[in-house]
Amino acid sequence: MPASGSARLVPPMNLAALPRLAARAYDLLLPPSCVLCSCTVEAGMAPVCAPCWHRLPRILPPRCHRCGATRLTPVESDGCAACAAWPLESMRTEALCPMRGPAARLVRELKYAGWTALAVPMGRALSNPAQNLARRAGVPADEVLLVPVPITPARRRERGFNQARLLADALSNALDARVTELLERRTARRSQVHLRRQARLANALGSFRTSVGAGRGEHERRRSVLLVDDVVTTGATAAACVTTLAEAGWQPIGLVSFARAWRTFEPSSDSAPPM
Ligand SMILES: [Zn+2]
Ligand SMILES: [Zn+2]
Repeated sequence: MPASGSARLVPPMNLAALPRLAARAYDLLLPPSCVLCSCTVEAGMAPVCAPCWHRLPRILPPRCHRCGATRLTPVESDGCAACAAWPLESMRTEALCPMRGPAARLVRELKYAGWTALAVPMGRALSNPAQNLARRAGVPADEVLLVPVPITPARRRERGFNQARLLADALSNALDARVTELLERRTARRSQVHLRRQARLANALGSFRTSVGAGRGEHERRRSVLLVDDVVTTGATAAACVTTLAEAGWQPIGLVSFARAWRTFEPSSDSAPPM
C-alpha cells in the first residue's frame, strides 16, 4: 500500500477556492478514497489502493534504452521503432508504465485533478529506473541532481504545482538525492505536432533556458543531472532539456518518467511497478 505522509482528501485546486477553515472541515468529513476504484483507503495513505496499484500495467523488458518503450525484439543497439523520430540520438530514458488504462488515469488525476498525494508513490516508484540510469552513467545515485521538467509559469499558476517537481521530491526522498530546478520554460512558440524531427527540437529548444542562479555551488561538486517527468511522448521536450543542460555545462544522464506514450502497446504486464 503506497503510503503518503500528507495525503490530501480533496484536490488542492478546489481547496484554494475555499476559506482555510472550511477546507479543513471538508477534509475531516470525507473519508479518503482510491482515485481509481473509489474504495476507502486509510487516512494518511496515498489515494490509490493496493489492489489498484498492483494492477498498473508495466513496461516489460526488453526495453529501448533510448526511449523507454518495450522493444518488440531484443536488439542491443540503441533506438527502436517507437523512437525513430526522436530528435536526440544520445537520449537515455527509463519509464515505468505504458500511458494507458489506470496508469494514464493516475497521471491525469495527479496533473489535472490535483491529487498531489499521488506523486508520493509515483515518484518513489521511479527509484529503480533512476538507479539504473545512474549505474549506466557510472555515478552514485545519491550524487545525481534531480531536475524536474518545468512547465510554463502560466501553467504553474493555473495548476498550483508542477507535477514533475512533486515526483522529483518523492524520488529524492527515496534516493537521498537533491532536487534542483535548473530549467525554466517559456510558452512554446508554435505547436510541435506537424514539425519534422530537427525542427521539433529547434522549436522546443526555444522554450527552455537554465534558471539564473539555480544550481550555483552545486556545479563544482555535482554535475550529473537526471530529468524527471510524469509522461514522455515525442522526446522533443526531453531532448530540448538535455541539450539546454549540456550547453550550460551539466552532464545529463537521462530522463525518468512515470509513463511512456507510444503508438503500439504490445507487451505489458499486470505486475506493479516496484515501490
Ligand atoms: Zn483502488
Ligand atoms: Zn526507442
